Amino acid sequence: MEIYTIGGFNEVGKNMTVVKTGDDVFIFDAGLFLPPVIELQEEENKNYSEKRLRSIGAIPNDLILDKMGLRNKVRAILLGHAHLDHLGAIPYLAYRYKAPIIGTPFTLAVLKKILGDSKINLSNTLKTIHPNSSCIIKGKKNYKVEFINITHSTLQTSMIALHTPEGVVLYANDFKLDNNPILGLPPNYDALKKISKEGVKVLIVDSLYSGDDRKTPSEKIARVLLEEVMLTVKNENSAIFVATFSSHIARLKSIVDFGRKLNRKIYFIGRSLNKYVTAAKEVNLCPFYKDIQIGSYKKQVESILRKVSKERAKSLVVCTGHQGEPGSIMERLSRKQLPFEFQPNDNIIFSSKTIPTPVNIAQKENMDKRLRKLGVRIFDNVHVSGHAGREDLRDLISIVNPKNIIPAHGALQQLTPMVELAREMGYKVGKEVHLMQDGQKLVL
Ligand SMILES: [Zn+2]
Repeated sequence: MEIYTIGGFNEVGKNMTVVKTGDDVFIFDAGLFLPPVIELQEEENKNYSEKRLRSIGAIPNDLILDKMGLRNKVRAILLGHAHLDHLGAIPYLAYRYKAPIIGTPFTLAVLKKILGDSKINLSNTLKTIHPNSSCIIKGKKNYKVEFINITHSTLQTSMIALHTPEGVVLYANDFKLDNNPILGLPPNYDALKKISKEGVKVLIVDSLYSGDDRKTPSEKIARVLLEEVMLTVKNENSAIFVATFSSHIARLKSIVDFGRKLNRKIYFIGRSLNKYVTAAKEVNLCPFYKDIQIGSYKKQVESILRKVSKERAKSLVVCTGHQGEPGSIMERLSRKQLPFEFQPNDNIIFSSKTIPTPVNIAQKENMDKRLRKLGVRIFDNVHVSGHAGREDLRDLISIVNPKNIIPAHGALQQLTPMVELAREMGYKVGKEVHLMQDGQKLVL
């Protein structure tokens, strides 16, 4: 078996791993590296070429596969979940492979929206697979691929188990272990135990927070944090704005639930919120759709904000811009570019954490400064992560008992603590736990 670590091993983003077994090749994820494209995010009708994205290092360098003669042996492109750093490069490179793209209903619904936005038509078949089910992929041999339901910060996230004659490849990138996920199913521990019995040859694992000595709290904790800020802080005469990750449908559900308790009209504004919420609705995973009004384009956004101006104490606005992204709703509000002005004691809740890259940190700090000048109250970091902590990782390894481990989802700084954890658990460094970089090949 050969494993190519194409992207996401030198940086947090552009995840892509390729597995060759016999004469058959499988691609796991193809994501974007967001920092170079971040300024372009919320702009309307912005299309980028593959060439441009490759030149700024925003998509995985899968041209390696051509050099290795593997391009025509790809039998499937398997997507673990709907985040851009895992599927955002699909529109630009999937056409290079004569292979179906396989993912859960929500993942593929989001992918279709992204393809529609970028006006790109792919000839690849999109094949839907429900969480906790499997399909057969035909190559030189036949392979069973299982999508095992797991929890994360977006819906229908899966660990992907590729059953090969050499053992199971388990792709666990991204995940957390949350038995109370608010929306969707809990982790399928039984399926993990089953593949453990069959024999896991290699585990490719989300190591982003392997350096954090903890278990990542459940989404139910984020719900309690929100409940406190939304229901116990004085807000009778204040506007309430919440910014959060657009793809985090479970979080959005909690926000809507408390908005209803406050008896406020609930508005969602911003293009990416519209994209993910509509995708969730299309696959029947948006139980709060009837309780909200969505504004996506300029005129809708402005008309909603004018209404909110008049009924500020009766409205709850959920909007984009939790990272201070230029062009996002919160960023434009902070610059007074939209028909709503914050007043002293208005509540702004960030149900998010600033992504620790220099660009994001600077953008968010500058936006917060402008907001504070307006006298608002800011509630930051009303959030729990969607990524496993060190003790979750230890539990996963104990359950699936892999022969080999490949830490993924980060640079040295994120991957090294995972190597140390594996060593602590008896794995030999370089023989059973493998520290990989972008563009490398590992033979097992
Ligand atoms: Zn993710």
